[in-house]
This record gives sequence, structure tokens and C-alpha cells, in this order.
Amino acid sequence: MKNKPFTKRNGHTTGKKVKCHHCGKFTYSPYRHTTVPPHNMYMDPKPYVKKAEKTNRVDLIGNLKVTVNNYCNVECWQEVRSRK
Ligand SMILES: [Zn+2]
Repeated sequence: MKNKPFTKRNGHTTGKKVKCHHCGKFTYSPYRHTTVPPHNMYMDPKPYVKKAEKTNRVDLIGNLKVTVNNYCNVECWQEVRSRK
């Protein structure tokens, strides 16, 4: 996947306001957390998860659909992670 230049990485500014997935704060430099589904491409790719809470952006990597959630910072994301 080198034909697509990824210039915006985690922790870097996006140039626009992004809403935090957890607390709702707006930030220019969100922490982007990517959620990869637990199944792999060898399994039947059923489009089952359609009701994801707030899917800001879904990128296709191979046959896997990846959900990207933006958080205001790493600490906010860790708070979400610790609750689950
Ligand atoms: Zn937050």
C-alpha cells in the first residue's frame, strides 16, 4: 500500500478540527486510534457490523475494514480502553 502517501500520522495536526470520540472535545491534533476487526480475510467477510457508534472514517486495507476513531489525546483514549 505504498501508492497512498500517509502524511498525517497519530498525534500530528490535521489542519481541521476533529471531534473526540470519547469526550466530544474538538482538537486539531487528535490521537487517531484504528480498530481492526478480529476476523481475518480468510473468514467469510460478512458486512455484519453496520451500526458502529460513530465511524468517522472507514478505510479499506485488503479485505479488512478498519474503523478509525479520533480522540483528543492518548490519555483520553486510554480512559476509554480502561473502562472496557
Ligand atoms: Zn477526549
